[in-house]
Amino acid sequence: MRLLSGEIFLNGRTRKAVAFDETGIIAFDDEALELDVEFEELGSAFLTHAFMDGHAHPLFAGREHLGPDVTNAKSVAEMQKIVAAWLADNQSPIWAVGGAYVRSIVDGGVFLASWLDEVAPDRPVVLHGSDHHTLWANSEAMRLAGVLSEAPSLSVGSIDVDASGRPTGVFRETEAKELITDAIPELSMADELKALTWAHAELASLGISAVQDAWMDKGMVEVYLAAEDLGELVLRTNLAFWVRPESWRADAKRFIAERTRITALRSPKLSARTVKFFADGVFGSATASVKKPYDSSAGYLGDPVWSSEELNASVAHFAAADFQIHIHAIGDAGVAMALDAIEKAGCPANSVIAHTELVAEEDIPRFAQLGVIANFEPLWAREDGMLTSCLHHLGRERLDSMYRMRDILDSGAKISFGSDWPVSNPDPLLGLFTATHRALPETPEVSWTPHQRITEKEALHAYTLAVAQQLELTADCSDLVILSGNPLKANVLDITVLETIIGGQTVFARQ
Ligand SMILES: [Zn+2]
Repeated sequence: MRLLSGEIFLNGRTRKAVAFDETGIIAFDDEALELDVEFEELGSAFLTHAFMDGHAHPLFAGREHLGPDVTNAKSVAEMQKIVAAWLADNQSPIWAVGGAYVRSIVDGGVFLASWLDEVAPDRPVVLHGSDHHTLWANSEAMRLAGVLSEAPSLSVGSIDVDASGRPTGVFRETEAKELITDAIPELSMADELKALTWAHAELASLGISAVQDAWMDKGMVEVYLAAEDLGELVLRTNLAFWVRPESWRADAKRFIAERTRITALRSPKLSARTVKFFADGVFGSATASVKKPYDSSAGYLGDPVWSSEELNASVAHFAAADFQIHIHAIGDAGVAMALDAIEKAGCPANSVIAHTELVAEEDIPRFAQLGVIANFEPLWAREDGMLTSCLHHLGRERLDSMYRMRDILDSGAKISFGSDWPVSNPDPLLGLFTATHRALPETPEVSWTPHQRITEKEALHAYTLAVAQQLELTADCSDLVILSGNPLKANVLDITVLETIIGGQTVFARQ
């Protein structure tokens, strides 16, 4: 058992002491101080619930980390340098698969295979875009995938081509991306576990104790099972099975079987209670589904991934099978379609709409009415390159009405936070700063949309207890974080994570 005294904030209350062990919190305040345990003084540090990430992709992040990491590259030349260095250091695997390139560095995200060919003329290179709805391949990767000379026709998404119809390197949305990714040899289980272990260590170092892995793709459930089996799973993780319009009826049985297998483990760390739908695409590629046409393309309303009839049927089917519903919806028409499907399925408990970037006025009250949790990625609510790259598609008025956290909270609905890592930085402290300032860290006084700011307490709740509710974890589980200062009072950007505690056990301690 541990007993800590000092500045403590738990379940919305300030405390002066807390005692806990691996079973949970034992006592607070005087009752805790009377226990026969030596107490640790927090001093200037601050203890609260550990952060939880309501929408992320740790295994994707880990897999990308095995390849060239261009996340922080500010130019194509810098990316070329990183790829060249990785290739020189890694003779195997043959394929260099990494990420995540910032799409807004090049106008329209039109990256060229030939730029990668300059540093990788004879080895396949694939880089994921930071939105993870696009990827950039070189010529050798396209050749091995059989799409070097001609772009196959697609039902959703697109492939960038030149005047003669030859692919030029960028593949947008799942169907297009899979032309390339299906050609990549599978990673060994040892590499998969290395990727997951790295990702969990990264998240633990940021004070995160639990995560919604929001997209189970081929082979991923096996990696989690292997990690759990070896006792290597660090964070509490709930898995979401990816429901696809073309195969959901056939896949449903497999999801149930895999859920049964995971439930039978009775693991305190691993669950698989959720199904994930994509209602639409993203704004950067103008594939999100909108109510009014894009400014960039006359009459064009984006690409809904589902027909509404089929989405309604599928959501109702999985709700009846007792799965939690988690729907990616970005455009206002995509959000409306997701709300409709949840409503028609009888409003299953703790349904989540993730991203909720653009919500029409008439749909704002529906989150509270239907009990839907709006999951936001707070770091997106600032005027950076990612946001401004959507300006020509959306126009100023629509762009400035994105991420209505204040309005949705005021409507009485619940909001939870996530990072969508590796789409964006998973650091919750940076997320708290952005939610409360809607500004860039270097210019905190210049708020993009100040009327949508939320308070420090609301933001902290959205990144802790609200996600616990979304993940259906009990609020008093002893997942705690010790921070160097109090984010409700001090400048959150000056604060660091000192210790992360999951189930009463320290999983990260700053040296
Ligand atoms: Zn995501």
